[in-house]
Amino acid sequence: MAEARLRELQLLPLLSLRWATWHEGQRRDTRATGASKPGAPGRSCCLVFFWVKKIKQILEALDYLDASIGVGRRMCMGKLRPNLCLSKVTVNLDPDRSPPSARRAATRRGDRARSSTTSGPASSRPAPARRPPSAVPVSPRPSLLSYSATRHPGRRPAPPGHQKSQMHTSVVVVVLETTEVYIVISLSTRRDTQVVYVDPTTGALRYLGKHGEDVFDSEAAALNYITDGSRVLSKSTTYAKALLGYAVLGSSALLLVATQLSASVPNLPGGGCIYTVAESQWIKIQLQNPQPQGTGEQKNIRDLADLDIDGKHFFCETRDVTRPFPSPMTLREPDDEFVWNEWLSKPFKDIGLPGHCVILLQGFAECRNFGGAGQQGGLVALIARRSRLHPGTRYLARGLNACSGTGNEVECEQLVWVPRKGGQRIPFSSYIWRRGTIPIWWGAEIKNAVSVEAEIYVANDPYNGSLQYYQRLGRRYGNKSSEANVSRQKKSGRVPVICVNLLRYGEGKTESVLVDHFKESIRYMNSTGKLGSTWIQLVNYDWHATVKLKGQQQTVEGLWRHLKAPTMVIGFSEGNYYDVRQQLSECKGSVICNDDVNGGFCMESIQNGVIRFNCADSLDRTNAASYFGALQVFVEQCSRLNISLDIDAMFGLSSRYSEYDGRNTRSLPPGWEERFDSVTGKSFYIDHNTRTTTWEHPCQEAPQKPWKRFDMTFDQFKGSTMLAPVNHLAELFLLAGDIHATLYTGSKAMHSEILNIFKEETGKFSKFSAVQNVRITVQRRYQNFVNDSSRQKQLEMFLGLRLYKHLPSIPMFPLKVLSRPSGCMLKPVPSITPMTDGGSSLLSFKRKDLIWVCQQGPDYVELFIYLGEPCHVCQLLLTVSHGAEDSSYPATVDVRVGSSIDSLKLVVEGACIPQCSNGTNLLIPLTGRIDPDDLAVTGKSARPNVQESSYLPLLYDFEELEGELNFLNRVVALSFHPSAVSRTPITLGEIEVLGVSLPWADMLTNSEHAPEFMEFLNKKSSSVHCDLGSKSFGNSSMPGNDSHGDFDMSEPHITENTFGNGEQTNFLDDGFDVNPFAPALEVPVPKVNKQVEECGSTQLYLNFFESLSGYNKGKGLDFEQMMKLEIKRLRLGLSATERDQALLSIGVIPATLDPNRSVDYSYLLKLSSLADNLALLGHTVLEDRVNASIGLEKGSEHAIDFWNISENDESCYGGACEVHALSSSQALATRENQSVFVECFRCERTVCKACCAGKGAFLLLNTYRELKIYGGSQSGGYSALADSFVCKSCCSEIIKRALYVDYVRVLHSLRRKDRSEKAALSAVNQVCQLEYRKASDLSQSIQFGQRQLKQILDGEESLAEFPYANFLQMVETANDSEPLLSLLAPFGTGEYKSYWKAPQDNTSVEFSIVLGGLSDVAGVAIIVSSCGYSTSDCPIVEIWASNKIHREDRAFIGKWDVQDIISSSPQLCGPEKSNRLSEEPRHIKFHFPNPIRCRIISIKMTLPHNGSRSTKFSEEFDLLSLDDSSVYESKPTNPQNSFIHAKRIVVFGSSLRKEVGPDTSGGIMRMKSYLDRSPPLGRFRIPVEAERLRDNDLVLEQYPLANSPGIAGFRLDFFSVIRPRVTHSPSSSELDTRKFSLTRMEDRFVNPAIIYIQVTVVKESGKLVVEEYRLPEVKANTPLYFDFPDLQQDARCVIFRLLGDVTAFVDDISELENLNLRNLPLASGLSLSNKIKLYYYADTYEMGKIGSLSAV
Ligand SMILES: [Zn+2]
Ligand SMILES: [Zn+2]
Repeated sequence: MAEARLRELQLLPLLSLRWATWHEGQRRDTRATGASKPGAPGRSCCLVFFWVKKIKQILEALDYLDASIGVGRRMCMGKLRPNLCLSKVTVNLDPDRSPPSARRAATRRGDRARSSTTSGPASSRPAPARRPPSAVPVSPRPSLLSYSATRHPGRRPAPPGHQKSQMHTSVVVVVLETTEVYIVISLSTRRDTQVVYVDPTTGALRYLGKHGEDVFDSEAAALNYITDGSRVLSKSTTYAKALLGYAVLGSSALLLVATQLSASVPNLPGGGCIYTVAESQWIKIQLQNPQPQGTGEQKNIRDLADLDIDGKHFFCETRDVTRPFPSPMTLREPDDEFVWNEWLSKPFKDIGLPGHCVILLQGFAECRNFGGAGQQGGLVALIARRSRLHPGTRYLARGLNACSGTGNEVECEQLVWVPRKGGQRIPFSSYIWRRGTIPIWWGAEIKNAVSVEAEIYVANDPYNGSLQYYQRLGRRYGNKSSEANVSRQKKSGRVPVICVNLLRYGEGKTESVLVDHFKESIRYMNSTGKLGSTWIQLVNYDWHATVKLKGQQQTVEGLWRHLKAPTMVIGFSEGNYYDVRQQLSECKGSVICNDDVNGGFCMESIQNGVIRFNCADSLDRTNAASYFGALQVFVEQCSRLNISLDIDAMFGLSSRYSEYDGRNTRSLPPGWEERFDSVTGKSFYIDHNTRTTTWEHPCQEAPQKPWKRFDMTFDQFKGSTMLAPVNHLAELFLLAGDIHATLYTGSKAMHSEILNIFKEETGKFSKFSAVQNVRITVQRRYQNFVNDSSRQKQLEMFLGLRLYKHLPSIPMFPLKVLSRPSGCMLKPVPSITPMTDGGSSLLSFKRKDLIWVCQQGPDYVELFIYLGEPCHVCQLLLTVSHGAEDSSYPATVDVRVGSSIDSLKLVVEGACIPQCSNGTNLLIPLTGRIDPDDLAVTGKSARPNVQESSYLPLLYDFEELEGELNFLNRVVALSFHPSAVSRTPITLGEIEVLGVSLPWADMLTNSEHAPEFMEFLNKKSSSVHCDLGSKSFGNSSMPGNDSHGDFDMSEPHITENTFGNGEQTNFLDDGFDVNPFAPALEVPVPKVNKQVEECGSTQLYLNFFESLSGYNKGKGLDFEQMMKLEIKRLRLGLSATERDQALLSIGVIPATLDPNRSVDYSYLLKLSSLADNLALLGHTVLEDRVNASIGLEKGSEHAIDFWNISENDESCYGGACEVHALSSSQALATRENQSVFVECFRCERTVCKACCAGKGAFLLLNTYRELKIYGGSQSGGYSALADSFVCKSCCSEIIKRALYVDYVRVLHSLRRKDRSEKAALSAVNQVCQLEYRKASDLSQSIQFGQRQLKQILDGEESLAEFPYANFLQMVETANDSEPLLSLLAPFGTGEYKSYWKAPQDNTSVEFSIVLGGLSDVAGVAIIVSSCGYSTSDCPIVEIWASNKIHREDRAFIGKWDVQDIISSSPQLCGPEKSNRLSEEPRHIKFHFPNPIRCRIISIKMTLPHNGSRSTKFSEEFDLLSLDDSSVYESKPTNPQNSFIHAKRIVVFGSSLRKEVGPDTSGGIMRMKSYLDRSPPLGRFRIPVEAERLRDNDLVLEQYPLANSPGIAGFRLDFFSVIRPRVTHSPSSSELDTRKFSLTRMEDRFVNPAIIYIQVTVVKESGKLVVEEYRLPEVKANTPLYFDFPDLQQDARCVIFRLLGDVTAFVDDISELENLNLRNLPLASGLSLSNKIKLYYYADTYEMGKIGSLSAV
């Protein structure tokens, strides 16, 4: 029966091997287990019944297995063995896993939310547990989701008496018909439900944390909201139980969820369940983003989604399980070495949901319960965590790598505990060991798929990183920090690391070379003296040879002899868990507590040190040996927990069981005999040697002696130990062995039959095993040969490593679409039928298929888009939409952006929109506004020859034009112009504006994160204040250092300083010094700033230029000098324009200093490809360094950095330097002592800092070194060599120059980053003034502000809060005022006493506030400034409401005189009295008569002229000035220096949760009916007589046949190229950005690559017609049609020329798969070959058949 079920489960292929084994021994197995089950004496009569019941349970469990969907295959393997099932069933606490009868009562969240009886097929959500195994969790056809809040009570009910640990996490992924994706997450640890929206264009996750919008009380309420009460259809719904990760990968996104879990360790001591992912699913989300992406990248993404997760990964939602049990840390601080989804969980962390992705570990976790001898049983869990430092497959991940991790490295933990009822202590003990491949640099290669032995290679410097490896072990397993051990064990603080090496070391064995190296490495390690307290010992034990020679039993005995001493020294951890913390006060050992656990752990002892097992692969031998080692500890652990596994502890009955099993042949010493006492039924023993008898077995003379079993023979062990628990443990090891073998080799473990040695009949298994082993060997060989490299790639991508190689074009930080609702149209968009929504459907993704037909006639259509959040606008994304005729879509667009409607700036004019098919997505990249003056100076006008088409700035963009960056842009105005040929009204489709917005919510309202930001901003702003921003710089070889140093080279002593700094160079301010790139230091504030201020950076630049040309005595600069000049320029913070202006002012043509032009073309190609390669190497090094630092103390950094470039002329230090690559200078000889000397790796001479090339040079020279060992280009292990040096005379000139190129590229990118950070800073300054505050003050102030706001709102909602709301128009602000936006800023930001004020002579101001969304406004409140009101500055307040910006449309709400109000509320007058902040700030509320539904609120404040005011209020004044009119005339402005002021403006009411615009479908239908005409004309190809490509295929000349029709235009099939993310080595700020950044704005968005196509028509007459088109980005090979403005008759030749940033693109990786260097100057995908066709228009009917042949 079970077999049949398993077949149904379709797991047989996977199980076949083990199945065969099991099937044979099944019956025996059952009996054996039954027998060894603890049964109390005298209970034998019940036993039969007991077993009947148990078997029933097993069958039920199997039944359930069948019914439950896709229980992981690993789990099933467990269930196959009835004894295991027993354990499972009895241990099981998870309702989901319980048999059917219990299942009905199961309470999953969703089930809880509705009644458990289903209410009809359409509305019921299928309970996952009931689905058949074949069912795909995503229902393929649209299903109606029905979650009515009324039917299902909204709250997630917490059933009384149920603890929260019994609630299960539920994840529902809903894909709507519109392809929009929502992730609905209800965590077991929280009571509410979060909804995360996946942006359908960019894939960015959106979560605001607003109740009712993306936070709900229950899952049902959330689903109800998403599907709009089931009115919206969902395409598919996936139910999952945990969120594992998410990644946006260009044009698609991947979401990884666990759909089935198995509670593999249901209840850890102190709570917490470890779940194994039994089944997972990658949900692929197709995005609208047309960002070009290569087929190679797409294939890699598909590969990533094939990664096998199931059964091999586990997690715990409530406890940290990345550390040995019990972890002192909380879930929030896992040990990175074992977190496999760190990268994949980042997107959720970034939106402020750090706990929503589980912390996923790779490996194995499972537990069994076992009985002791007639006493209480215990639980044993085996947890094996795989390290991620050296991920990968067998033949690619061996030995050490650059992260100082070894291949297949696993930390194993054996946790034994005695479960008790709550309220008592839970005793437990935990034993840790490690396994991995040999920690030296080595590799192996298979020659072909069938060869038996792999060839082993050992690196030249095989111990590179070994030290770090052992240091890491020492840190993790040393318990010197624990007070308990120091006091109690009185050890010298040594941490023993015992390496048990199981390799063959006999003569002629291939592995013996490794053994020798291993020995040598440990000798070397100990000799360095750098191990600290770590103490390494190597034990060699040739496992295979011993087995062959002595058999298995003696092999085990031998192992025990070796392990006895180390195991006893290292010991294991023991302790008790107490539910109540108070009980811990009596704890004598150390106490471990953290916030994730209610009670705490009292540790009696803590393991000190670790045993590490290895064979060549850390596979079969390792698993077996570690089992026998752990077994000894297990027995000891049990005995310490008072679970005796001694067989004599079971009297009578139990002995008889052993008799039945034939196990009573316990070995007795020679001369002994065992007999039975017929009276008692007990055994007794006769010693014939001494002629005595005893009840005690002679081998158990001292039952309390610890570790006694180490001294036993195999038979003695077997005879004296209860074998059922032992075999339970063996089962765990068998399963774990298979998992780890599969992870590493793709097949199961071999030679594992030895683990069954304690079972009977092992002999009978062996023949199966032999077959099995052969089969696995073949399988592994095949897997390794065929799949290793692609699996390696998968793993790297999963971990987020080497993405610049596998997915080069993927941005790390996707843009946001900011035009979606709550963005809106500020003016109605004209349409051919009256549309009630005013055009807002153009901004909604839900109307993807919309064709908006504008009014007939107008020259152009203008749209004003208000963005949902302020941002820097980066891209405009258009969805082409038209009827049958594509010419109705506009031909060009102008884009203006601004922070308000009256400050719009033209960003691009006449951007071309080619004609293309309906639904095409066109991306128009935007720069910020470029100053026309800049354009005039730099660029073409600075070049001597304008028509220089062969010029390619391959090294870097010498003429970069810098667009303005503004993060407060809010309004985008688009002007669409129709095409010349269009005969129909303009049609429009969906419009999206993409940009980068600042993390406003975190900065302004998140009391947790705001202080962090504030500190960062303060640091930034202070650096702006005390110097000229980037116009200062540090040591010349420190890109990324935004502190300051000396740079003046005119005085020699300053050069000296440069070196002085050089030696102390360190890294980032935060001391993150794993980075080999950019040293930074608290450099003293330089005198340089003074110089900059005195003569200006321009002058300093020119001085430097002149000094350089002075050297050359009038000759032009050479390449290195030009680069130095550019380095100087970037250091001084000059833009390209400023440089050109300066140079032109002294009569130098800038182009003559362009390094791109200074070298010949083929050299340029070589140089740029070397620099590209260096960039990749640099990123590899950075990645490896970051990972290598995990678990280690921070290392110190060397003075010689990646580039070692000094912008000043350097000379040899002399002294010890043996290289003298530079001419030495006498003056510098004195510095010898301070300078740095290293040894050149090549010539082994001593070299000074100046004569040494940067680390990058060494990498470039060694890229191809020993690929077999260093993992080839795939894993780039050679980055470990980045600490080696090469002298300047050992590396060629081109390598030195490549370092210069890379260095300048880095500086360029830093300048961009700096510009964006500054723009961000200025944006923040326009919202609230920065001032330094203590973190705690700030978070308090924010919390206080939020309470204040709540007071004022009195239950209403705040509708006009920045960043969601904004001013529509600028309002004039006094100089000493808080910024205008502070009026809308959240409470608690900015200085408490300060406020906004108008300039003094303004007696009237008007605020137009665009609300956060369409709302029902109930009123407006003005928070009174700290100065309070006086009689002279009380304004008259008038309020209007409207939906669009037209003034005439707005509705007047009312007029209030504040004077009236304050007369009744005198507390509003005068300055704030007390310093105490009141809970309710002083404010005036203006209540509307009725709530008004609107989008814009206008508030006008007018200061009445004094006279009229005074007459009203002041009797005295009235008496004095009787003449009203004189007062009126003389005082148009305020006499008493009063001005309009306010602290905040609060608009309150209720927002409409959804954009419930009027139903527009009717109107849209009517619009479509206008487009029903069929196209009268088609495009036909103009035959070409000849064509010619030139200038790197960027220029195409086409010669049409004579008598061709006039040319109407041309078709261009878009290029298949990508824009790589990595273009230069990382700088220190790169690390910054990973950890913390204000803008997260990538280079490619600061400086987008824009390409143009220029078309020159040469007429017969010789006349030229030139047109230029700015190209949008579209998907590869999309046909684009460009119509000429006029028909081109008599064309002799048409020349197409690709211009612009062509060098920014490269080919897809599928083209370059095996190439390390780019051989081409340009991407071959940019070639115009076969891309362009000329066409004319003609009537399709007339053309007939010929037409169809030549249609274009
Ligand atoms: Zn030197
Ligand atoms: Zn050298």
